[in-house]
Amino acid sequence: MGLLKTFKIGGVHPAENKLSAQVPIEVLPIPKKVFVPLGQNLGAPSKALVKKGDEVKTGQLIATAGGFIGSNIHSPVSGKVFKIDVVLDSSGFRRPAVIINVDGDEWMEEIDRSSDIVREINATSEEIINKVKDAGIVGMGGATFPTQVKLTPPPGKTAEFLIINGVECEPYLTADHRVMLERGEELLIGTHILMRALKVTKGFIGIENNKPDAIAHLSGLAKDYKGIEIVPLKVKYPQGGEKQLIKAVVNREVPSGKLPIEVGCVVQNVGTTLAVYEAVQKNKPLFERVVTVTGKGVSKPSNFLVRIGTPIGELIEAAGGIPDDTGKVIGGGPMMGKALLSVDAPVVKGTSGILLMRKAEAHRKPEQSCIRCSKCTYVCPMGLEPYLLSRVSKLGNFEMAEKERIMDCIECGSCQYTCPAAIPLLDYLRLGKNKTGQIIRSRNKK
Ligand code: SF4
Ligand code: SF4
Repeated sequence: MGLLKTFKIGGVHPAENKLSAQVPIEVLPIPKKVFVPLGQNLGAPSKALVKKGDEVKTGQLIATAGGFIGSNIHSPVSGKVFKIDVVLDSSGFRRPAVIINVDGDEWMEEIDRSSDIVREINATSEEIINKVKDAGIVGMGGATFPTQVKLTPPPGKTAEFLIINGVECEPYLTADHRVMLERGEELLIGTHILMRALKVTKGFIGIENNKPDAIAHLSGLAKDYKGIEIVPLKVKYPQGGEKQLIKAVVNREVPSGKLPIEVGCVVQNVGTTLAVYEAVQKNKPLFERVVTVTGKGVSKPSNFLVRIGTPIGELIEAAGGIPDDTGKVIGGGPMMGKALLSVDAPVVKGTSGILLMRKAEAHRKPEQSCIRCSKCTYVCPMGLEPYLLSRVSKLGNFEMAEKERIMDCIECGSCQYTCPAAIPLLDYLRLGKNKTGQIIRSRNKK
C-alpha cells in the first residue's frame, strides 16, 4: 500500500481505545417501556399522530415530519401508548416524547423480517428518495440531518460522487466497524441504492486504516459492486469530518460556509446507508440502530442492536452495569460527545455510543491562562484560531466570532484535546457558535 490518503490541515492522534472492536453485534432485549422523543433530527421536531391509549405495532408511523428539514418517526415496539409527555433527553433538555408500554413484538405486515439479502434494486431515484423520507432516515453518525434532503441537491447543483463515511475516528466507538464487518453486503447494496438516488456512477467508502478487517472484507465484496471503491485512510482525527473526508478521498475543498454538494459530493454514514438498504429493499423504517457501550471500567464493552427509545441505563446494565469509579457518562465519543445528565435518557436515531469514563479520566484539570503556544491553531483541521474564537465567545463579541469564521468550526475538540493550559475551548466554541448562528438566522429572516 502506498501513502495513505488523509486531509492536509491539522489533526490529532488520540488513543484509539476501540475496546469493543472484536465484539459482535448483540440484539438487546426489548425494554418494557420506550420513550420516543419527537425531536430526533436536525430541524423541526416531528408531530405526533398517536394519543394515549392507542395500540401500535412495530414499524408503525407515529409522528410525521414537522417541516422540510424534518423526519417521520415510527414505533420501535408494539404495545399501547401510555402517554405523550416531556422526558429528559441526552442533551439534558426536557422534550416531548411518545411513551409506549411494550406488549410482544408485532411488526407491521409489509416489513420483510427475513434475513435474506435482497440484491436487485428495482426502485427509481425518485422512489428511493420517497422511501428514505417515509422511513424517517437521518444522518446516524450524530448529525441527524434528514437524509432525503441530502439526496435532493438544490437547483443548479449536481452530485458527482457519493462518499460513505466508514471512518469512525472517534476513539472507543465501534458500531460502524461492526456493521461493515457483519452487514457488509447490505452496506454495498445500500451504497448502490444511494448512488442511484443521486444519479452518480462513482461511490467511495472511506475507512481508517485501523480497521484492516473491514477494509479487506468490503474490498472483497466490492469486486461484485460496480463503481464502488474502498479507500483506506490514514488514522488521524477528525478524518471522519465531512470536509476532511472529502479532501482525503477526492482531493476537493468545500469552501467556507458551503455544503459538500458545492464540490459535487454527498457524504453518508455507514449506519445511515444500512438503514437506506433496509428501507428500500425490506420496507423497514428506521426504528433500531447499533450502539456501542464502552469504557475502560466497563466489564463487557459491547455493540448492541437496540430499539430507539430504550433507556440508556438498560444498555449499560447489559454491558455489566455502571462501575463504581465512573466519573461521567458520555453520549457519543470522548472528543465530540456530551455528558449525560441522566441514564434514563433514551437512545435516539443519532446515538452512536455511550462511553463510561472513570473518575480519573473524567476529571478536568484546572483551567490556566493561555500561554500563546498556538498548538490549538496548529491542530485545527478547519484552519481556525481556536484561542481567539473561544476568547471572543467568552466575551460575547459574536460579531468578531463571525468574522473569524466560528461557523466553520466542526466541534471536533482537537484544540481542547491539545491545549496544555486545559482551557475548555470546545465549550466556549459551542457557546459562541450557537449564539452567532442565532444572530445570523435572525438577520437572514429580516
Ligand atoms: S473544535 Fe473547532 S476550533 Fe477546535 S479544532 Fe475543531 S474545528 Fe478547530
Ligand atoms: S493551545 Fe491553549 S495555551 Fe496554547 S494557544 Fe491555544 S488556548 Fe493558548
